Formats: sequence, structure tokens, C-alpha cells
Amino acid sequence: MLKNSSKVEDFLTRNEEEEIIEAIRSAERNTSGEIRVHLETSCEGDAVERAVKVFDFLHMNNTRFGNGVLIYVAVEDRSLVILGDEGINNAVRNNFWESTKDTILAHFKNGAIKKGLVAGIHEAGEQLKAHFPYRPDDRDELSNEISTG
Ligand code: CA
Ligand code: CA
Repeated sequence: MLKNSSKVEDFLTRNEEEEIIEAIRSAERNTSGEIRVHLETSCEGDAVERAVKVFDFLHMNNTRFGNGVLIYVAVEDRSLVILGDEGINNAVRNNFWESTKDTILAHFKNGAIKKGLVAGIHEAGEQLKAHFPYRPDDRDELSNEISTG
């Protein structure tokens, strides 16, 4: 189903990849929410529909509080979707991700993919914290690794 055979190193250097993973780790130390990043070259058709498919493919609905959030990027299209699971959607207003999206897209405009993602992950973590604070029994429910299409 994820038919493009792109790899993380097509989009990011090893160091950039590490920085992004560290940003996710760090964000998840403040919230029970689980953040994932998915990168692919481009998106045929509707990016939101594609992000929904990726969300399912990565079993991101598999969290205790339904608070997984996917940051989906079609790199060449500069197309970005932030998709939260039910627990998040029930807890927040509709435009919850708008400022995070704006932050990321502002960096993408300058070609700064890594910088945009790190800033976006940080902001998403801060926002999630208010609704889903970190819990002492926290587990890393969804991998922090970047997935690709
Ligand atoms: Ca967790
Ligand atoms: Ca995680």
C-alpha cells in the first residue's frame, strides 16, 4: 500500500534524522500523546486521504488514550497534513493544528525540512501537553522512527 520506495535518506541526512527523532523523544517526555513523522516524495490525489491511509497503515489508532498524531509530509509537493486520533479530536477544537502547520510550512518555504519538523514537533508536544499530560506509567506506544512511503 505504501508504494513509493523512498527512504529517509532521500530527504534527510542521518544527523537531521537523529535531530527529528530526538525532538519526538523530547516532546513525548511532556505528554502521553504519541507523535510520528511520515515522509514521502509526493502525493497522488488528496493529501488528507493519503495521511488517513498512512495513519492506519502505521496502526496509529493503537494508543491507550487515542492520542497519536501523524505529521505527514509529501516533500516535493511541500504538502503537509497533521492528523490526530479520536482522543485528540474529541478534546480539541477544529483548528487546533493550524499554528503548528503554519510554523512548519514557514520553514518548508525556505527549504528547511528538518528545521520545520523539529519546530513543529516541539509545538505539537507543547499543545498536546495541555490536554494529555505526561503520566508516570507512560510507555512509548508508537515508534519515534521516521517512516517513509
Ligand atoms: Ca508515550
Ligand atoms: Ca513515540
